[in-house]
Amino acid sequence: MSFDSENSSNVAQERISYKDFSELPFLRTQLINMQLQLQTIQRDNERMKKELEGYNVAPGIVCVVQEIIDGKAIVRNYNGIVFAINVPEQYKDKFEIGTRVSLAQHNLAVLDVFSKDMDYRVNMFELEDKPNITYESVGGLEKIITELEEMITLPLTKPELFTKFGIDSPKGILLYGPPGTGKTMIAKAVANQAKAKFISLSGSDLVQKYIGEGARLVRDLFVFARDNAPAIIFIDEIDAVASYRSDSTTGGDREVYRTMMQLLVELDGFNSNEQVKVLAATNRIDIIDKALLRPGRLDRILHIDMPNESGRRKIFEIHTKKMPIDSGVSIKELAKETEGASGADIASICREAAMFAMREKNKKVSKENFKDAISKAMKPAKEPEEGGLKTHYM
Ligand code: ADP
Repeated sequence: MSFDSENSSNVAQERISYKDFSELPFLRTQLINMQLQLQTIQRDNERMKKELEGYNVAPGIVCVVQEIIDGKAIVRNYNGIVFAINVPEQYKDKFEIGTRVSLAQHNLAVLDVFSKDMDYRVNMFELEDKPNITYESVGGLEKIITELEEMITLPLTKPELFTKFGIDSPKGILLYGPPGTGKTMIAKAVANQAKAKFISLSGSDLVQKYIGEGARLVRDLFVFARDNAPAIIFIDEIDAVASYRSDSTTGGDREVYRTMMQLLVELDGFNSNEQVKVLAATNRIDIIDKALLRPGRLDRILHIDMPNESGRRKIFEIHTKKMPIDSGVSIKELAKETEGASGADIASICREAAMFAMREKNKKVSKENFKDAISKAMKPAKEPEEGGLKTHYM
């Protein structure tokens, strides 16, 4: 048999085998599978095309506008390099001091102007235009308030007095004391009194959350504060940045050290007559690097201790002011019974007492409710019981 005739007989045989369509369901499944594969490949193709488009656009250099002179702008990038660029007609209205712009790497043409509202620093530092905490809401810290009035409020509200007498006002103050004693509160109250913006950040965020960015953030923090002057910079947990380490060998330690050095540079670099003041807080003064406390830096130290009985009384009065309280409740007694409680403990005792009253559907908070709240708050946090919650009092 010739090859041709053999081949044609095979085809004929195949035809015969398909005649009964027995393989049709199998072929149909195969077709569906192939269609699905094709869809996946098409999707991948689209995704890769988009990625490729991204690679074609070169990333821009982000700079901050420093000055605008006759249609030109002086901008600075985050490494501190300054450029003079032309401001294109279409961006003229958007260029303001402090705006961030994106520039092409090869010719510094303006690619984009970021809206000031989108300023990333606003997200990194907490900014309160004027905190709503007043001196009346802080109990038992009258002496501290008087000191802060002289050292912070007066220089911010009446700088001319200091110029007249030829004296420098302090640039920064360190508040130290146990947690929950009102350090943050009092810093906010000072900002409120001085009608200053309150810019806060935490030292531990600076070294843990923004790893590798600490020094740059500190630099930006001071620029941001000047842009928003009069302003109070509040750095909580400053010990995270400024703890003394004699043998900084690890990368993490060096990074913390760089952040701290930048903080010193910024403190040295600004003038005490500028409308920016720094308040820092810690409960570990023993580990603070002494370099930070030298004259011209955080050279005033205020100790905020646990409140004494009369302080606790005032704090109770503040936190029960808006509460319906039973006539049997004596604030004096409450203050006596809570030796060792911080302001934050007292705030949570009052909150908890009100919760007990609400649960019992009482109209007023009773002596019994306070008693229960005190015993709950004053005993150390317990290990959670099985299936239960652990309650902490800060
Ligand atoms: P710190 O910064 O010292 O850790 P905070 O200022 O954050 O403490 O205080 C936490 C909370 O405790 C406050 O929001 C407030 O409710 C309460 N508190 C602390 N100290 C006082 C105080 N002296 N007077 C009134 N409330 C206080």
